[in-house]
Amino acid sequence: MKSDERSFLNVFFVIIIILLILGILSLYLSTIDNTNVLKIALIIMFIVLILITIIFLSSTFLVYKVINDKKISKFSYKFLKGFLINIYPLIIWISKILKINVDNIRRVFGKVNNFIVKTKNIKVNSNELLILLPHCLQNSECQYKITNDISNCRMCRKCDIKEIVDLCNKYNVKAVVATGGTLAREWVKKKNPKAIIAVACERDLASGINDVKVIPVMGVFNQRPNGPCFNTKVDIKKLEETIKIFLKEE
Ligand code: SF4
Repeated sequence: MKSDERSFLNVFFVIIIILLILGILSLYLSTIDNTNVLKIALIIMFIVLILITIIFLSSTFLVYKVINDKKISKFSYKFLKGFLINIYPLIIWISKILKINVDNIRRVFGKVNNFIVKTKNIKVNSNELLILLPHCLQNSECQYKITNDISNCRMCRKCDIKEIVDLCNKYNVKAVVATGGTLAREWVKKKNPKAIIAVACERDLASGINDVKVIPVMGVFNQRPNGPCFNTKVDIKKLEETIKIFLKEE
């Protein structure tokens, strides 16, 4: 198991331990308190906390299976995706408290999401697929405005945009550049895709997946050899593989 996956599971274990401690504490308090109302409230709290603990334990088991490429049932996929999206802010909050690298957590969140979407075997036509790209993929010295239209790229090969345009032409898919979350949401509204491939850093990808709940999103992490948000790169092979996962065979 990779270190980012271990960190992700560790956060779950910490949450489970906290829930168990609170559960045992409420049960203990219910035995020493004499007032009936408070006693009942504490017992109810104990039962609720144990139920939440069981949900977390099941999710930890499912995440463990997913990151080890093991199959889980359709219901489990639905449950896991909904659960992760809802508790994502809590996971990030606990990670920050534990001083765990939050990007590791986001990375695993993205991986689990990709696995779930891939297993659903969603197939769309090429005109229904949208590739969302971050602006930092473009060479910082490039004069051409590709934010409105990626085909403004002059194919000089100084950045990966050229390869992406080639991929778009090869598979007849649309790619757009978004300079931020708001613009990305606008593109999604305008293009109305049935599936999205988002090239982004861990943070943007995780928030994008959370934003677009109804459309299946698969993420491809960008590479940052020059630091964050500057002349970033993308694994073109991985991007092509992801396009193929979504496209119906002609
Ligand atoms: S490949 Fe396209 S976007 Fe990249 S620097 Fe050259 S012209 Fe600009």
